[in-house]
Amino acid sequence: MHELAITEGIIKIASEVAEKNKAKKVLNIKIKCGDFSGVVPSLIQEYFDIVSKGTIVEGAKLIIDRVPIRIYCFECQSESEIQRSQICCPKCGAYKYKMISGKEFFVESLEVE
Ligand SMILES: [Zn+2]
Repeated sequence: MHELAITEGIIKIASEVAEKNKAKKVLNIKIKCGDFSGVVPSLIQEYFDIVSKGTIVEGAKLIIDRVPIRIYCFECQSESEIQRSQICCPKCGAYKYKMISGKEFFVESLEVE
């Protein structure tokens, strides 16, 4: 259900932008999706095809750009990419770090006609 609400949000944003630009059609929607956002990209596409029916964004292609989880470790002072299941620094094993990227989820751009 989480993805459904997100998909509706994407459609709302994309429709507003398309109308503002007097577009006839939306060709594609570029989305940034962090691996830590908890959003499942394949579900978004599935919901999108259903919910967008009859709207200006119907038939648009979703281009989902995945953003890996990157952390900065305070212990060894380095940046690394980690998996969602990993909870410590891969270089030194410390738990003292901050997340630099991976939480984001937003519409980056639209291509309209
Ligand atoms: Zn470290």
